Amino acid sequence: MSSTTSTTVSIRRDISALRDALRNRGDFAISTRNLRGQARLTLRYPLFTGRLPAEYSDSAQSADYVVFSYDTPIAWHLAGQDAERDEAWIVPGTPYSRTTTQHQTAVSDALYSLPGNYVYISPDLAPTIYDSDGYNSEGYDRYGYNRYGYNEDGYDSDGYNEDGYDEDGYNSDGYNEDGYNSDGYNSDGYDRYGYNEDGYNEDGYDSDGYNRYGYNEDGYNEDGYDSDGYNRYGYNEDGYNRDGYNEDGYDSDGYNEDGYNSDGYNEDEMRRPLVAGQLDASLAYAARSANYSPAISALSSRMPGNVALLAGAAVWPATREMIDRELDIAWARERAIPSFTVPEVIIGAGVHAAIYSAIRVANGKPKPLVLERSDRVGGTFAITRRPSFYLNSGNYPGLLGRPGQGQALNYLPGAEIQPSDVSSAQYGTNADIGFIVRATLARYADVVTSAGVRAIGNDDYESSELQVRLTDGRLVYARRVLDARGLGDPIIPDGAGMSERVITFPDLLRRFDGDFPLQGIRRAAIIGGGDSGKVSAECLLGIGPQASMSVGSLDYLDRVDIYGPQLADTATEWYASERSRYSQVGSFLKTRRLSVIRERARVVDTGTSVLVNEQSYDTVIVAAGFTLPDISSTGTFYSRYESGNGLILARKAESGAESYRIGPAAALPFTDAEEREPAVISRAENVAGIFRYAARTAALAASLD
Ligand SMILES: Cc1cc2nc3c(=O)[nH]c(=O)nc-3n(C[C@H](O)[C@H](O)[C@H](O)COP(=O)(O)OP(=O)(O)OC[C@H]3O[C@@H](n4cnc5c(N)ncnc54)[C@H](O)[C@@H]3O)c2cc1C
Repeated sequence: MSSTTSTTVSIRRDISALRDALRNRGDFAISTRNLRGQARLTLRYPLFTGRLPAEYSDSAQSADYVVFSYDTPIAWHLAGQDAERDEAWIVPGTPYSRTTTQHQTAVSDALYSLPGNYVYISPDLAPTIYDSDGYNSEGYDRYGYNRYGYNEDGYDSDGYNEDGYDEDGYNSDGYNEDGYNSDGYNSDGYDRYGYNEDGYNEDGYDSDGYNRYGYNEDGYNEDGYDSDGYNRYGYNEDGYNRDGYNEDGYDSDGYNEDGYNSDGYNEDEMRRPLVAGQLDASLAYAARSANYSPAISALSSRMPGNVALLAGAAVWPATREMIDRELDIAWARERAIPSFTVPEVIIGAGVHAAIYSAIRVANGKPKPLVLERSDRVGGTFAITRRPSFYLNSGNYPGLLGRPGQGQALNYLPGAEIQPSDVSSAQYGTNADIGFIVRATLARYADVVTSAGVRAIGNDDYESSELQVRLTDGRLVYARRVLDARGLGDPIIPDGAGMSERVITFPDLLRRFDGDFPLQGIRRAAIIGGGDSGKVSAECLLGIGPQASMSVGSLDYLDRVDIYGPQLADTATEWYASERSRYSQVGSFLKTRRLSVIRERARVVDTGTSVLVNEQSYDTVIVAAGFTLPDISSTGTFYSRYESGNGLILARKAESGAESYRIGPAAALPFTDAEEREPAVISRAENVAGIFRYAARTAALAASLD
């Protein structure tokens, strides 16, 4: 009998399937096909006999059924070979491999159990003797398993070793010792690096740290944006945050939260909020703080609230210093110039810029833009933050008047407080007015510092837009320009090259913002007998305001000479010719510390000291007056500008352009009325006094459209 259908048999536990296959001589195979039985019909002849010894070859070639182990016939059936029986099985005992021996044993055992067959089996394959439990002398049962169920290689009938792993090292669940299956994944589906088939770890992130949607643990994609399109700093691809503002706080139209653009302007109000806001915030802080509030509290029951607040802040040195510093910081932050045409530009951030701005705002006009060349706002009086000189105009309360009438001379129309609100001294200090100028500009103007003006374009013809060119090349466009540069720059006498030994009057003043301001100076010459010369003498002789830390052993000068042909050189003559304001200076003429030299000074810096005429000095102060450089368009003439009723207020470009000069920069000659007042015209310094120009500037501001 034969069959072409192959049966899969197991020789490990149950030999009956093998036995049945042999009895039927049907095709069979164990699962790995290295033991198989095939009928002649399915074989090709001559038979390939593998490693079968040659003496068996003929017998095998005539078989009608062959059992192979691998490619070698290990048993075959011969039909009708014996007279008594019509068939025979041949099973040679040739030793091959261990597996083949197992196959041979299994096949011979199966054949022995077949009744009625003639079997020729090699003596080597004679039946093994099994004990009553079915184990041979080596402890294996007929199927090759020991009493523990393991074969010689240590695998049980299912192919697993003691530890439960198959030949390839996998347990019945298909996992190796490390818990990974043949594809390298553990029971949770993760490989040894913690990633699943799709490449994601337990937390759902791939080896680059991104989840299946492309976002990392922090929620950002490869480009650094979260699912809403914002990076870790909160900005989207275009650089705007969730509220629509960029890093600098501006929206896509260029405006910040409060509606101001990077130039600090709000389109509707045309104003910058920072400095005014800082002033208010500092004042509010001062009013709340015990360190700063005593003067504010003391004045609050005696003055209107806003005056008490500002005046109290000015009177209390710590508060004045704090506000001064805060304003400087705020102004330093507002250095951008507007890119659009502003209504009004004022050149110079001094007294007249303050008055003009305050009156403009009081009249409902926008804050002017003030361009200041230095990094400090406040003009001549604010040149130092600490007091450095006494004013030469007396300190009277009340409304603006003229000298000799006991009326206010230091009066700033439009300002919230006046110098007489912050000091009772007969002559206040520069810092008193400086503080008021700065507070007024903080409130009523937009000041840009470090913005020196080099030229005004277009003021030589009537134009609706004037071009203001800065020294650094920037341009500002304005519909009106007001030149308020004051007295201008110090005049430097011919040949007096400036050095650390030859300094200007403003340089001397600046030393008083530091401590021990005169250290290193023992013999000084002052060039110039005008107001700044006399003020310089006060500074050098220790009779100016003593605001800085100063001690005689460091700051005492042995000798001060003033070169001024017009000055008196004896105390008696000095008292007779000079104002009482400067009488203390005159008293030093009685000592050898101060001398007036009525000569024109010729200055030579030797490199180690300075020669003035024949005298040698370690320091020379140039106080020879001021000059105002021309910044108008070439050929432009500025003539007196009168109000409707004939009062001279300023100067204006003759071309008709909206270009004015105000304050001392207008250099207006004394009027007839002023000429009639001896107290006015008798003093050269009165020519630039606040009392002469303040009302004019205010009137101009009130009358212009
Ligand atoms: C030592 C001294 C003492 C004085 N004492 C008194 C006194 O007691 N009482 C009194 O009534 N007057 C006094 N004056 C006169 C005083 O200068 C004026 O009253 C007052 O300062 C004029 O104000 P202003 O705004 O026109 O000019 P300033 O206050 O001088 O301000 C002008 C501003 O313009 C700036 N500037 C100049 N050129 C440019 C430019 N090209 N671009 C941009 N900015 C520029 C300057 O840096 C300065 O900040 C004194 C002057 C001096 C020098």
